[in-house]
This record gives sequence, structure tokens and C-alpha cells, in this order.
Amino acid sequence: MAHRVTLIPGDGIGPELAEATRRVLDASGVAFDWEVVDAGEACIAEYGTPLPEHVLESIRRNRIALKGPITTPVGAGFRSVNVTLRQTLKLYANLRPARSIEGLTTRYEDVDLVICRENTEDLYAGIEHMVGPDAAESIKIITRAASERIARFAFDYAVANHRHKVTAVHKANIMKLSDGLFLESCRYVAADYDGRIEFEDRIVDNMCMQLVQNPGQFDVLVLPNLYGDIVSDLCAGLVGGLGVAPGANIGEDGAVFEPVHGSAPKYAGQNRANPTAMILSGVLMLRHLGYPDIAARVELAVRDVIAEGATVTHDLGGEAGTSQFADAIIERLRATAAPAVPA
Ligand code: NAD
Repeated sequence: MAHRVTLIPGDGIGPELAEATRRVLDASGVAFDWEVVDAGEACIAEYGTPLPEHVLESIRRNRIALKGPITTPVGAGFRSVNVTLRQTLKLYANLRPARSIEGLTTRYEDVDLVICRENTEDLYAGIEHMVGPDAAESIKIITRAASERIARFAFDYAVANHRHKVTAVHKANIMKLSDGLFLESCRYVAADYDGRIEFEDRIVDNMCMQLVQNPGQFDVLVLPNLYGDIVSDLCAGLVGGLGVAPGANIGEDGAVFEPVHGSAPKYAGQNRANPTAMILSGVLMLRHLGYPDIAARVELAVRDVIAEGATVTHDLGGEAGTSQFADAIIERLRATAAPAVPA
């Protein structure tokens, strides 16, 4: 039976990347039945909201979605669709692997990090208000339940994926209660994995410095929402930029796979953006669906095409368009074709 997946093309470069990703996944041998639904700017005129209820219903029904980036206005305007999706569907873990890719010239050759970002609270709870005309207050929510849940996710991920260390990132020296609770929760969970997975912690500013100096010393990172958002872009930069950084939002009742990057409006409609991040998000989805071997084949095809360097997008130093890059990956997949997965 084909897997029914909600496909949200998104804004800006999203539709081109979604099309490229869909073609690659369709060539993987796994049968998909895509339920395409729009969210984002295009929906506002018709539905009065960038996230219509039928989009949420589709994800709830299928329990799995692949999503392109969605524009969020800065300062005023509607609330981030991405944050709303994560909170409404209780997608509490944001998984963002950052792994070096052969053929991509960066400062480091051996980065292999996995970021586990808490996805539902912290300053992203969206509780902010003006205090008189000249001051604004934003409330940072950290709970023991959500902190322990993401810590357990990080340790379980480490065990399942043969990782050896989890590093908790915080600012508990200054935010003694909120970040203090996050750190205490991570320490509490770490005790259950004693002897199996090493545990350490870092203050977030020091962590950023150490990441740019010596990223090879880290393995799995667990962070509250805001630091996770910032540090994952930093880590994307270590391995070649936002064009190659995949992500997954995982909850108990469903999962939404999406690239780390945004809608890059300046490249929209130009067949120029790099689909790697969204295709690798599709690879995470294949693993989540229980196809580790096919996921590995698709990932290898992407890596091979990048390593060869002949058909890569502009951000990787090439001249290929989004669709030509996807064609090269599909060609590579066909050349190494495995038997189709039985329906
Ligand atoms: P962005 O990620 O869209 O773009 C930053 C820069 O990164 C781009 O100008 C481009 O140079 C590069 N880039 C990003 N993706 C690329 C790709 N696939 N190929 C090649 N180059 C790529 O970040 P931004 O400009 O800060 O945000 C634009 C919009 O996206 C904002 O409205 C923001 O809120 C939204 N956003 C959405 C998501 C999401 O949907 N999950 C995530 C981040 C930002």
C-alpha cells in the first residue's frame, strides 16, 4: 500500500523544492500517495489564515507530512505557521542532523552532529505583550515535563543510532530557574543512560565558540527551543549552509519533515535554490517510515552527485538548476536501482 503523506509546498522557493523532492522520493522505490495542501501566504486571501484547518486535519489523518518553508512576516502580521504547527500538533522534538558532505568545501571535514531542539515552549510560546508604550515583555516558559521529554528523545536517539555522547546546552548561570530547570531535567534523564551514553553540558555562548573552533568534539546536542534554532543554523553553516540542512519535527501522534532553511524569497521561481535540504528531510522521513536501506540509498545518491560536482546548484558552486540537480539524483538512483518495495 502506498504511504499517504501530506505535502505542503510552502512559500518562496518551497514549491520548486517540493516538486524536486517528490520526484526523487517517487524514484526511491517506496510508493507514496501525496495529498497536496497549501499553507502560507497563498492561503490568506482565500481562507483568511495561512494555516487553514483542513491542513491540520490532513496531517492529523495521515500522521506524516513533508513541508516546504513558509514565510513569516517580521514584527507584525500573522504568527509563524511553523511554530503554530509544531505547538498545535505537539511535535515536541526538532531533529536536525548536520553532517559533512564530501565535495563541499567547508572549514571542517568531519562534522557529524545531531541537534535535538525542544520544539514547543521557551520564548517561542509566543506569550508577549507591551508594558506601556515603551517596553515589551516576552515570557520564557520551561517545564520539567517538556525538558525531560526532549532529553529522553535525545538519549534514545543516541542509543538507537550508536552515538556516544549527549551535550545539554543552556544559560543556567544567568537564567537560574528556567534554564536551570532544563539542565536539571537533562541531568535527571542522563542518569538512566549512565554507562551507555556520556553526558556533559555547555553554556550556550561558550558552546557556539567551541562549535566553530572544534565541532568534531560534539555528537548529539539537546537544547531549549531558541538556542536550538540559532545553534542549528550555525551547525548548518559548518557543513555547507542552509541549502543542505534537513530537519524533522516529531511528536507522539505524527511527524512533519522540513528543511531548516526559510522561503528565500529572492530566489523564488528561478529554478536556482538547492533542494538538498528538503530531499534529505525526505530521507529522514523514509527512515521514520521504516525504510532505512532505501533512505541510505537516496542519501548516498545525493552525496554522490554533490561529490562529483558536475550538476550542483549555485550555492554549491555549480550552475545546475533545482530540477537538473534532482534529475541527476534520480539518474543516480536508477543506476543503483534496488527492487521496488512490494505494494
Ligand atoms: P532563508 O533560510 O529563507 O534564507 C537565508 C539565505 O540562505 C538565503 O538568502 C539564501 O542565500 C540561503 N538559502 C536558504 N535556503 C536555500 C536553498 N535551499 N538553496 C540555496 N540557498 C538557500 O532565511 P530568511 O531570509 O531569514 O527567511 C525568509 C523567510 O523564511 C522568513 O519569512 C522566515 O520567517 C521564513 N522561515 C521559514 C522557516 C520554515 O518554514 N521552517 C524557517 C526559517 C525561516
